[in-house]
This record gives sequence, structure tokens and C-alpha cells, in this order.
Amino acid sequence: MKAMTSEPKRWRLTGEAGAPVALHERLARKPRVLVYDIETSPHLVYTYELHNTSVRPDQIVEPSRLLCWAGKWVGEKRVQFYSEHHHKRDVMIDALWHALDEADIVVGYNHKGFDNKHAMREFVTSGLGPPSPWQDVDLLKENRRLFKFASNRLGYVTEELGLPTKIENAAGLWLRVLQGDDQAWDQFKAYNVQDVRATEALAEWLWPFLRLPHAGLWTGQRRSCPACGGHDLTPMGKTYTRAASYARLLCSCGAWMKVLASGETRQI
Ligand SMILES: [Zn+2]
Repeated sequence: MKAMTSEPKRWRLTGEAGAPVALHERLARKPRVLVYDIETSPHLVYTYELHNTSVRPDQIVEPSRLLCWAGKWVGEKRVQFYSEHHHKRDVMIDALWHALDEADIVVGYNHKGFDNKHAMREFVTSGLGPPSPWQDVDLLKENRRLFKFASNRLGYVTEELGLPTKIENAAGLWLRVLQGDDQAWDQFKAYNVQDVRATEALAEWLWPFLRLPHAGLWTGQRRSCPACGGHDLTPMGKTYTRAASYARLLCSCGAWMKVLASGETRQI
């Protein structure tokens, strides 16, 4: 039987009294969490057919490349933005390398299979080594694991949750961007930056649901909440595996954890 030892203090992002402390305050600047998003150009290719065709490598005129990236440290207001239009390419790529190098945790939406790999290709083709490793929290993967939204697009999910969402791109914007149109680049920048803001808002909303590296790895507080590193923990009975039981705690951030014999906490 489930034993409740106290009233659950469930986490609700209502914006009303009792709303949780913002993620950046909970994480208290440790670990360093980077939210980022990149934009790439399409491959430029020769093709004879428009439908059901495949393109051989010798038909590629220009392969896809990094056009720009936007990134935000959780806990800082500013969104960094670098592009090949506003900066030299090596400056844009170096800045991304340094951001990823500094990050303990990297948050994105499908960034593990897309943004990270495009970034790594730019690094290796620029003669850079790998940035120091980080832990990825990919919100698309987590969204698929946890929920069944009608669409898994970032814009759809954030809208369903009433969060800051993506802005729509004007038709053909990318073409004008590739032509170096200043006004188009302004819109593209706004779009990229807003993607990062929407991704961060989603991360903050979903934080207690997410599988996360233990915040105590960076704070040294291994008996704190694994998700946020906080100590506002309420005993909530026990949790069971097939062969063992553990004291169960609920953090004011909404995350559940169990307490090991060592006293360390683990997400459940
Ligand atoms: Zn917490």
C-alpha cells in the first residue's frame, strides 16, 4: 500500500503563489547548463528528378553547413547568437566549440542526433579537437519516452503547454538568408533565438520528468535532489523494486527520488 507521510507539494507552473523557483535558481549556477539550437543550409545539388530520386555524392555542389547557432546558459538572460553572416565562420565555430566545452549539461530539441553532429563535423573539418564531454538532455527523446502528443514538433508541444513557442518563418526566408539579405537574416536570427527560448521554457517545465545526471555530481551534494540540487525534500513513504524498498522523497521542484543506504539520492 502506498503510504503518504505528508501532503504532496506538487510542482505546478501556474505562475501563482507556490509556483516553483525558476530552474536557474534551483540549479544555483551549478552545473553549467547550455541550451542551444543551430540552423543549417540545405545541400545544394544537381538533380534530374524532383520525386523519388536519389542524389549521388558527385551531384553535390555544396553540402549542408552550419549557418548560425543560438545558445543560452540557464541562469543568464542573454541568448548568444553567432552566424556566418554576422561573424567570420571560424569565429562562429570557435564560439560554439567554447560553449560546448564549458557546458556540463547540454539541452536541446533533437540536438543529440542533429545539432551535436553538425557541430562536431564543423569542428573536425576546422581542425579542432573535440570539446570536453558533457551530458545531453535531448527534449525530443524525452518527449517521445514520456508523452504522446499529437505532434512532437517543438512548436506544437510548447503551444500545447502554453509556453513561449517558436515563431513562424516567412516562406522562402532560407533562400533570402542564403543570398545574404540583411533583413532576412534579422528574421532568421529572431527565429533561432526564439527556438532557444522555447527549448529552455520546455526544459524548465519538464525538468522533474526528465532523466537527468545527478546535480550533486557538480555541487558535491549527493544527498540533495538529483534533478535540481535542492534540499527542500519531503518524505513520501517508500518506493519498491522487486527485492528492496527505499525511503522516497519529493523535492519542491517536483522530482521524485529514493534514498540509498549510503544516504545518496537517486532519481526514480
Ligand atoms: Zn529538486
